[in-house]
Amino acid sequence: MQSLNQDRNTQSILRDSFGRQINYLRLAVTDRCNLTCRYCRPRNTGSPKAALLSYDELLRLVRVFASLGISKVRLTGGEPFARTGFIGLVKEISKISGINNVCITTNGTLCFDHIKELKKNGVSGLNFSLDTLSPERFRQITGADLFHEAFASIMEAVLQGIKVKVNVVVLDALNTDELLHLAGLAENLPIEVRFIEPMHFNGRKNFTTSTWTISSLARFFREKIPGCTEALSASPSTARLFTARNYQGRIGVIGGHSRTFCHTCNKVRVTPLGMMKTCLYDKEVLDLKKMLRAGYADQALVRAIHDTVQKKAASGTEAASGADATCSMALIGG
Ligand code: SAM
Repeated sequence: MQSLNQDRNTQSILRDSFGRQINYLRLAVTDRCNLTCRYCRPRNTGSPKAALLSYDELLRLVRVFASLGISKVRLTGGEPFARTGFIGLVKEISKISGINNVCITTNGTLCFDHIKELKKNGVSGLNFSLDTLSPERFRQITGADLFHEAFASIMEAVLQGIKVKVNVVVLDALNTDELLHLAGLAENLPIEVRFIEPMHFNGRKNFTTSTWTISSLARFFREKIPGCTEALSASPSTARLFTARNYQGRIGVIGGHSRTFCHTCNKVRVTPLGMMKTCLYDKEVLDLKKMLRAGYADQALVRAIHDTVQKKAASGTEAASGADATCSMALIGG
């Protein structure tokens, strides 16, 4: 593996056929979750452990991706903290040469006690999912009475100086009366609160497009929040970001369904079952688990990943033709 990392400087940067540089890996470590969010998954089942990539396999993959110029890794799931030994994995990933940005997406209910340690081990960002500020609604949306645990983790992460983003899925008739309250978290805390259009990855056959789109969300916040203006984003971002007068943090809107940010996409994903995806919306495009377990050498993995990236679709809309419309986000890694 040493040689892979030594080769890093001599290898070309991972670029797709549209010239987009790919430097960001979303790695889903489990499809298990302790919540059953109604927009994500119908029931709380997970695959058998042997079907998931082992920690050794995950580490090997991250090293291979790092040799291709991936510098940012986001760990997700399922709920990553629901997998035993997850903290050890985070520590090892943050030591990998070339990886300079390790972030985690979590529901916050299982991580409070680990936040200090994560900070010490170089985790630079935590994205928390929180769709409501009402404990009762939290239970209705997630199936679990764990609002206070989730909220305490957010506060602890802020206290520890970790970069915090809060993801809110905008759910018609469920939390749209709370949009200003939720945005107000960014008034008093130095965090980004991002409002996401629901996507069809809910693990069910039925999906209704939200009446709230990124355009209507942007208009709403501009109209309702004093001094709310759009901020220019320096780096590729899935979110349109807004600042507001007297706000410590920022508000973001993410067109997950509208797919307005694909031209700046810099990501690839690996699902909990070891399938590579070059777009949230594509059909799984490379069976990395099969390659790992068949004994392929690192250089073969590098070549296969490189070739797969060349086939990355121009946009999520183009990629969606092959996608499984009934898949849960927990099986992809959101
Ligand atoms: N368990 C972690 C969590 O709750 O953040 C990580 C996995 S979760 C699948 C990752 C993100 O996907 C969350 O922010 C969640 O809100 C989002 N998500 C899940 N299903 C979604 C859907 N159908 N539409 C939009 N976002 C979704």
